Amino acid sequence: MKNSPNNQITIDGPAASGKSSIAKRVAEEKNAYCINTGEMYRALTWATLKNNIDPKCDPAGVASLLGEFNLRIIANSQDITTTLLYNDNSIIPEDILSSHVTSQVSYVAIIPQVRDWMVNKQRETKELGLIVMEGRDIGTVVFPDANYKFFLTARPEERALRRLKQTGEHPTELKLATLVESIIKRDKIDSEREVGPLKPAVDAHIIDSTTLTICDVVNKIVSICK
Ligand code: C5P
Repeated sequence: MKNSPNNQITIDGPAASGKSSIAKRVAEEKNAYCINTGEMYRALTWATLKNNIDPKCDPAGVASLLGEFNLRIIANSQDITTTLLYNDNSIIPEDILSSHVTSQVSYVAIIPQVRDWMVNKQRETKELGLIVMEGRDIGTVVFPDANYKFFLTARPEERALRRLKQTGEHPTELKLATLVESIIKRDKIDSEREVGPLKPAVDAHIIDSTTLTICDVVNKIVSICK
């Protein structure tokens, strides 16, 4: 434990590394709120595309959207979940999880003004009490003083296979190869950006889950957080 105790457990890692499922289970175990920051970048990407802005060619256009972009993280009183509201309407997860949004989100997340805006919003969740927050830069930038930091990794082929199983798709060789390629591409953009790149905090516990089950990883994290 560090000298100044606080209320965040951070889980970072590359695309499809199981962060969302694991963060939810850890939050349940710890009776904490679970916050998925990828949804926030996806929501802005969804709004960007709805406004016919190409994030790769027009980062200033994306940044100009932020003034009117009203994103709120609402804690649900019944359980540990949070809901993302955009202009007072809940964002439909299917929309933000579409392959079109997935293929563009890293170009939105690379924009420094976007990262500043998101980090400030994410820090506001401190007021919720104990939280498990997952993303790419949570242990390094958003909550560098968190007591417990984790960084999940797994081989891209294993991550792709898990993602296909999760969506119920039959894992043909072609589907797997296409997904591995898109995962590697997204990780590369996320790791190479100048602001808030995907990387483990120096004091993060690194867990390679290639040969582990979700349950194994959750148990490992919970035992460290005791
Ligand atoms: O976690 P998920 O795959 O939904 O994240 C989508 C994208 O959002 C990532 O590929 C990354 O570009 C961006 N992201 C980020 N920082 C975070 C969370 C997500 O840059 N903290």
